[in-house]
Amino acid sequence: MLVSGASKGTVLESVTPLPSRNADPDELRKFGDLAHRWWDTSGEFAPLHAINPLRLEWIAERATLRGARVLDVGCGGGILAESMAARGADVTGIDLSEKPLSVAALHGLESKVAVRYEAISAEDIALREPAGFDVVTCMEMLEHVPDPAAVVQACATLVKPGGHVFFSTINRNPKAYLFAVIGAEYLLRLLPRGTHDYQRFITPSELSRHARAARLSLDAMIGLHYNPLTRRYWLAPNVDVNYMIATRLDAR
Ligand code: SAH
Repeated sequence: MLVSGASKGTVLESVTPLPSRNADPDELRKFGDLAHRWWDTSGEFAPLHAINPLRLEWIAERATLRGARVLDVGCGGGILAESMAARGADVTGIDLSEKPLSVAALHGLESKVAVRYEAISAEDIALREPAGFDVVTCMEMLEHVPDPAAVVQACATLVKPGGHVFFSTINRNPKAYLFAVIGAEYLLRLLPRGTHDYQRFITPSELSRHARAARLSLDAMIGLHYNPLTRRYWLAPNVDVNYMIATRLDAR
């Protein structure tokens, strides 16, 4: 899930993806336009801040972070990347929208949590550093990409055999449309309108199929839930709307 906004003004993205690249320039621009708000915990990215402790714990329960080489794909302003680095991981964050990366780097200077940030696609870094990471995370990003299967494959190429790859995205069904689009963008206004395109949502079976095709075995799957009355998020088995999966690359 998460963020973007009615693009106001003329913020120029310095990255202009080639049409053949597995990226949607409009999506990258949306995140670029809002980048300055990334660390405002009550702004457009508030949901990412709110869910971060939950997903960080879920990851840390399954993968050792201390001392691990970790790649965060589609890291945006670095919320998850920084939190994993604070747990002792050696983290690289990549994204194709440059403004969020600059915001992430600046925030790291302030918080004194070291993360390497780079504007490069998952597919390109997979060519440069195959099997280079113990853990790969790719959260709230696949539903913004034209060919998510190619990103899943790149994540599998990037992780060492036996290493962990984590994904999160939004399911595609009428309930997900109601909650993630109508609820989050129109009724509760948790996210700017236009943040999510229903057509790009990904069912757990599609994501599992992409993972299996890339030799990633499914370890666990969990849903991410929100109660607008209590404003509380929690994890539970139901994966009808937002969900995460944990996978491991088959050791050959
Ligand atoms: N993963 C972060 C940010 C999620 S927002 C988190 O969960 O906290 C989605 C991010 O995906 C944005 O920063 C956007 O710029 C990035 N993104 C979208 N398409 C991308 C692509 N093709 N390659 C890399 N990053 C992409």
